[in-house]
Amino acid sequence: MELEALTRVWKLSPPATALLLAFLQFRREPRGRLAHLARIEPRDLPAALEELQSHGLVQSGPGPDRRLGLVDVETFERLARRAAGRAGADPDRLELELEVVREVREAIGRPRITVISPRERARDDHDPPPPVAEYLRALFPYLDLRLGTRCNFHCRYCLLGHEKRSTRGLAELEADLRHGRRLGLECLSLTGGEPSLHPDVLRVIRRARTLGYRRVILVTNASRLASGRHLERLIAAGVNAVGFSFDAPDAEVSRRLWRRDAYAQVLEGIRRVLEHDEIVVGSISVLTRLNLRLLPELVRRLAELARGRRGLYLPAIDFVMPEENAWTHRRTLVPRLREAAPYLEAALDEARRLDLPLVFRGMPACVMPTHREWDMERYMSIFEVVDLGERSRQHRAGLDFLRHKPARCATCAHRRGCLGVYRAYANLYGTRELRPVPLAPREDRPCVC
Ligand code: SF4
Repeated sequence: MELEALTRVWKLSPPATALLLAFLQFRREPRGRLAHLARIEPRDLPAALEELQSHGLVQSGPGPDRRLGLVDVETFERLARRAAGRAGADPDRLELELEVVREVREAIGRPRITVISPRERARDDHDPPPPVAEYLRALFPYLDLRLGTRCNFHCRYCLLGHEKRSTRGLAELEADLRHGRRLGLECLSLTGGEPSLHPDVLRVIRRARTLGYRRVILVTNASRLASGRHLERLIAAGVNAVGFSFDAPDAEVSRRLWRRDAYAQVLEGIRRVLEHDEIVVGSISVLTRLNLRLLPELVRRLAELARGRRGLYLPAIDFVMPEENAWTHRRTLVPRLREAAPYLEAALDEARRLDLPLVFRGMPACVMPTHREWDMERYMSIFEVVDLGERSRQHRAGLDFLRHKPARCATCAHRRGCLGVYRAYANLYGTRELRPVPLAPREDRPCVC
C-alpha cells in the first residue's frame, strides 16, 4: 500500500517519502545509517531529513549519538490530521493510512513469524501450470523460519548485510515452531544465513517433525551438502525438501557473486540433492548485472544437472532485490528491468525447449509481457504474523513497503495481480520503465486500492 495521502498532505519529495517509510519501521537509528536504511543516495539525505524535521515528524534520542526516530504515534496522527485539514485531503483515505501507521509502529520489536502461502487469485485468473500447482500443493503454506544469520558465503546480494552474525537459540526457535502450528501450518522452511551451520539444526528438524510439520525444507547454498554424509543426516532427521542457490554456470562469476571460491563444492552438493527423487527440490538464481548474459546457459546447466530426475524440481530466477548488500553494490549489481527482460525471456524460452518448469519473480508484466503463467508472484503471498501477547495479527504493511506502484498503475490491466517494482529499485532508477497495459473495454474503471 502506498501512503499517498500522507505524502501529499506534507508534499514530500520521493527521498523524503522513502525516509518516512524507513522511519516508520524502526525506533531510532544513528544518522549515519539513515540513507542506507531508506535506500536513498547519501547526497539526498540532508534535504530529505530537513523536510521531515520541518513538519515536526522526527525526534532525536537522548544518548550521545543522538539517534533519530519518528515522533510517537499520537503526535504523528495529530500532525497528519492538522496538515490534512490545511491541504483538504480525503479524510477516509488519511484514516486508512493512519491505521497502517499504527499497525506498523505497534509491531516494532515484537516477536513475529513469516508465512509464505498460496495467493488468492482473481476469479478470471488462470490456473498455474501443472508443475507449479504441484509445487504449491507440496510445500505451501509454510513457516519461514530463520535459524540465524551465520553463513559461510558473503553474497553481494545478501539481504542480511548489516546484521551481526549469530544463531538463534532453541527456545526461541521452538516458540516460533509452536506459533506456526497454532496457525495450522504443516510445512516449514529453514533459512539463514546458512541454516545447516546452526549447531542444533538436526534437533530443530526432529523437533519440528515431532510437533507435526510434515514437510521440512532446507534452504541452502548447497556447499555443505557436497559431503554426502551431511545430506544423509539431514534427510534422516526429517528434511524432505531442499531449496538451493545457484546463480551462474561459471566459476568466476559465481565467485564474484558469492565472494567465496566454492563453485565445484556447490555443484557437487546440488548433484547429490537432485539424486534424491523422494525429496522436493527448488532452486533460486538471483538475476544481477553480473550473470544476466549467462541466463540461457544457466538454464541449460540446471537442466543437465536434473537430467534423469523423476522427483519434482522447480527452478526460479529472481530479479535482484536492491536491499542491504545489493543496495551497497547497486551500481554493479542491479540492472535496469528493460535491460534484463530480453535475457530472462531467452532463459524462459530455453527452459520451455528443455521441458524445465522455470519460474521467475520481480519482473512486472508491462516490462516483460511474455511467459506470464510462469510468474511465481501470481501464485504466492508473503505475510508476517506478529505476536501481540493476547492475540496475533497478520501484518503485511512492512512487506508491502518493499514494493512500489506509481499512481498510473491504477489504469493498467495487470493492476490487481502485479506487485509493481521493488521500492529501492524505484528509488534508484525511477519508474519510467513502467507503462500501463491498456484495460480491456469492460475493465475501464481504474482501481482505487
Ligand atoms: S501494474 Fe504497473 S508495474 Fe504492474 S504491469 Fe501494470 S504498469 Fe507495470
